[in-house]
Amino acid sequence: RTAQEALERLTVDVPDWPEKGVTFKDITPVLADHHAFSAIITALAAAGRDDHGNVVVDKVVGMEARGFILAAPVALALGIGFVPVRKAGKLPREAHAVSYSLEYGEAILEVHRDAIGAGERVLMVDDVLATGGTVEATRQLIEACGGVATGASVLMELSFLDPRAVTGALPISTLLTV
Ligand code: 5GP
Repeated sequence: RTAQEALERLTVDVPDWPEKGVTFKDITPVLADHHAFSAIITALAAAGRDDHGNVVVDKVVGMEARGFILAAPVALALGIGFVPVRKAGKLPREAHAVSYSLEYGEAILEVHRDAIGAGERVLMVDDVLATGGTVEATRQLIEACGGVATGASVLMELSFLDPRAVTGALPISTLLTV
């Protein structure tokens, strides 16, 4: 509840960015406030625990770039490892790649082949769920490694973009739906 209140209070709507007609949710003021940052990390990490508080995932994946900022402290809070999913050409070793469509054109996300073990349960963490393309592409990368994508935990869901049509049955926890 505190996390949701902090998100509502501190997120800044930026009109016409990165292009005309798009209103960008700027979460950097949330990160700059220690209490808000701490509250959102605790809330995001709850998706990695069962009702008794036991950690039920093996890895946390964060998507470049804002996902990194959130997923790494979530992994530390859960006491498990962090895995970065990066844009094409950034990872130095053998990687799986998945291409997905953006509003205009295509993008590629990659993960190191050995970053997730067979059967490992993986939670995805990102800031904003918009069209759902990033979460869906990351789910495919986790499965290409032989892992099990248990769900995603995000700060904010832009429901008017209908991301659940893309992400399907995957469980996604969101702190705030707009
Ligand atoms: P999707 O793939 O769901 O369309 O877009 C989600 C990705 O784009 C996330 O990695 C997220 O960081 C970024 N994104 C899209 N829209 C916004 C926005 O309004 N604010 C922020 N902070 N990130 C956004």
